[in-house]
Formats: sequence, C-alpha cells, structure tokens
Amino acid sequence: MVVGEVAERAHVVVVGAGPGGYAAALRCADLLPGKRVVLVERDTVGGVCLNVGCIPSKVLIHAAERAHSATTDDTGVALRATVDARRMRDHRADVVAGLTGGVRTLLDAAGVEVWTGEARFSRPDRLAVVHGPDVRHLEFDHIVLATGSRPTALAHLPVGDDRVIDSTGALALEEVPDRLVVVGGGYIGVELGTAWAKLGSSVTIVEAADRLLPAMDKRLGSEVRRRLKQLGVVVHTKRLVTGLTDDGVRLDDDAVIAADKVLVAVGRTPNSDGLGLEQAGVTPAGSGHLDVGPDRRVTGRIFAIGDLTPGPALAHKATAEAEVVAEVIAGRPAVFDPAAIPEVVFSDPEVASVGLDPARAVADGVDHRVFRFPYAAGSRSRTIGSPSGFVQLVADRDDTVIGAQLAGHGVTELVAECTLAIEMAATVTDLAATIHPHPTMAEAIGEAALGLAGHPLHVRR
Ligand code: NAD
Repeated sequence: MVVGEVAERAHVVVVGAGPGGYAAALRCADLLPGKRVVLVERDTVGGVCLNVGCIPSKVLIHAAERAHSATTDDTGVALRATVDARRMRDHRADVVAGLTGGVRTLLDAAGVEVWTGEARFSRPDRLAVVHGPDVRHLEFDHIVLATGSRPTALAHLPVGDDRVIDSTGALALEEVPDRLVVVGGGYIGVELGTAWAKLGSSVTIVEAADRLLPAMDKRLGSEVRRRLKQLGVVVHTKRLVTGLTDDGVRLDDDAVIAADKVLVAVGRTPNSDGLGLEQAGVTPAGSGHLDVGPDRRVTGRIFAIGDLTPGPALAHKATAEAEVVAEVIAGRPAVFDPAAIPEVVFSDPEVASVGLDPARAVADGVDHRVFRFPYAAGSRSRTIGSPSGFVQLVADRDDTVIGAQLAGHGVTELVAECTLAIEMAATVTDLAATIHPHPTMAEAIGEAALGLAGHPLHVRR
C-alpha cells in the first residue's frame, strides 16, 4: 500500500457487470438496504452477453432467418429479401443500447454505485480501481467476482490479422463475407456460421471432434448438420486448422480452404488473470476457473460466479448464482444446487438440452428409458412448415423425468418446461397428464411423455 492512499469503504463490491455481476449487485442492494454496494466494470454495463454475445448474436440470427425464409418460403407467399449488413449492425446496436440502458436504470433505481475502471486486488480486503490516470481504492466486507470469460485464442490464428475474427468481430462485420471459415463447431461456430450462410456467405465449419456440437446428444448435432448441408455449408469434422495461407487456411491433412474471414470459436477462457488474485491468496485452477463452495465462496469474503467458475459458460447460470451469493452475503442459508441447467443453441433447427442425455445416463450407470416424439407427427409443426425435429425425454426407473433433448422450431422455449419438470422431480405421468394447448409445439412434450408412459397417441406404438 502506498503511504497516504485513502480507501473508500463498501459493504459489497461486485466486479464485472454482466448478467452475473449486475444481478448480484441488484439483489445485494435489495437484501441489504442502507449498505453501500459498488459495481465495478471496465467496459460497458451488460458484459459480453448483452454487448457482444447472446443478444447481438440473436438479433443477427433473427435477421438472417428473415432474409433466408423470405426467399425460400413455400406457403405461397413470395417475398424478396435485400440485406444491408451496415443497417443490420446498427439495428443490433440499437437493441443492445435499449437493454443495457434498461439495466443501467435498474442499477440507479436500486442505489447501486457503478464505477468505471479495471479492478485489481491490493490486499485480500482491498481493490485498486484504475480508470485512465485515476486510481481509486476500495475496501469491502464482501466481494463478488463476476469477470466472465473471453474467446479462447489460437496462437496460429491470431485475432487481429485482418482476416481472423472472434465472435465479437463476427458480430461487427459491416459486409457479408464471401467466404467464411469457422474454426470450431460448438455453440458459437454453429450459430454464427448458420447466420452468415443464410445472409449469403459460403461457409465452411472445421471441427476438431467427430461431430458438430460434440458436448450435446449426438442426435442434436446430426439434425443441425443435415440442415447445414441443405444450406450449402461444408462441415469438416476430426480436422484441425493448422494455420493461415495467402488466401485462406490450411488443415491438418494439408487441404487448403479459401477464406475472406476466419472466425475462431473454440471455447472461452475465464478472466481470472489480471485481477491480482495472488494479493488475495487465491490461485485459479489450471483452466483459469476459481474453485467455489456450494455457496460460491472462494474464501471467507471472496465469492465468484459465472464463467469464472466451473460448469457451463452460460448467462443464466451466472444469474442464478448471483441470487445465491446475495442471499449468502445477507446471512440467509443458500447454495447453488440446481437439478439441471438448460442449454440452448439458436442453430437451425434450434436445439436444446437439459439434464441427462442417454449417453450420459449410460456413462453414469443410471437405469433409464427414452422416448423420442418426432415433430413431424405433430400438427403445429406442419402448419408452420417446420416438421423436422423431435422431443426426446429420458426417465429413470422410478419414472422421474431426468433429461430432455430437443431439436426443432421453438425448442429454446420448450426446454423451460422440461427444466421445470426435472427441477420439481416430475414423473412421466405428471407430464403426460399436463394438458398442453392444441395446436402448439409444446404438445410434443406431452406426446413424448405419453410415449414413455407406454401409450403414445400420434405415433405408432
Ligand atoms: P464450445 O465449447 O461450445 O465449442 C468449441 C468447439 O471448438 C468444440 O466443439 C471443440 O471441439 C472445437 N475446437 C476446439 N479447438 C479446436 C481447433 N483447434 N480446431 C477446430 N475445432 C476446435 O465453445 P464456443 O462455441 O466458443 O462457445 C463458448 C461458450 O459460449 C460456450 O461454452 C457456450 O456455453 C457459450 N455460448 C452459449 C450460447 C447459447 O447458450 N446459445 C451460444 C454461444 C455460446
């Protein structure tokens, strides 16, 4: 500590204003009236998700689908689409500004102080917050680290070469690239590769594993791959990109793929470096994650949530953890112990998964049963011309619903019902007896449950 440094005091400091951090600050302000809550953010309130991740990517995907379906519709209505990539980018910026402005209003109304700057521990109970030439010091009783993650970099494909971009760059493109190579066929690669293909790019996806979306049930990746083929997207699996060539990339089998832009989407790295954690006596794991207890404590006064902690790097996990830490800081008993965390991919078709899939159930030695109801057997999917996809339910030997995997139109919404079923330990009978409105996609969940109960209605027994 520099002699003469004067520190301010706060009861709670939250570092990082993404969906984890801003939710933690809001909830702490709620639960601790009269206590000072400071939220420190080096960039813009909303974090990666609102500014350069989930939100602008969904705007892009929606626009791409509009452009594509206008020209391929078979309802008898013919439209013509024109794509203005610059206007699309401005529209994304407007949507983001609306949402981040809303968060800012909530923080102000809750009395949360937002400090702009880069936070770094100087002691286990003290931070230096640096903003340009200014340094402010802040002591705290509790700190919540919610600094998120960044795209994992590949040394041989440096983002910054004018051809190589990460997901942030892919969302900032002002023109539709003629030829786009996507390195990584996970969530981001599939979502953005599909969107740019629908907007007119020739897209190639190169994935190291033996299938797309390798972390999910293999049927989900297969549905997506089939559709990508229809869209003209070339997919190479079990292949690595080894470097750049003059006009594209080279693969590990020496094939060369021409590319105007190369999108690297090979995972995310936690932002635990640069926080001065050594000053707080905290050492991250080799992956960069911070080990936390069920109450998300790293040490007595330090908490961590979101992408900094093990588990899926998903905004909704971070927000749920934020609720827990605020309760714990307020002295209430709380632990992060969800029965399942849903995962959704805005691919074409959309896919979603929650709980155990059949492969995981086998690996875990769980005695289970599976039923898959095809969307094509339902009526709503036909009325909107989206008959491909399915709802697959997994139940244990006691008939408790333990997993669901879904592909098709609207499944990113439908998975919420399956998540509730798992969280409440619903049985197959509970789901089958739940009356689903007709004609809707949600009926597929009831139909899959009827199938598991042994009496499917709209498919042959
Ligand atoms: P990811 O882990 O989903 O996929 C990365 C893929 O890259 C994997 O399939 C991996 O096998 C492959 N890979 C790794 N190294 C490679 C290499 N050298 N060459 C070729 N392939 C390689 O990661 P992501 O797509 O970057 O997404 C990051 C995170 O963002 C995910 O963890 C996800 O949770 C989150 N995310 C969520 C959503 C959503 O919820 N809809 C959307 C996008 C991203």
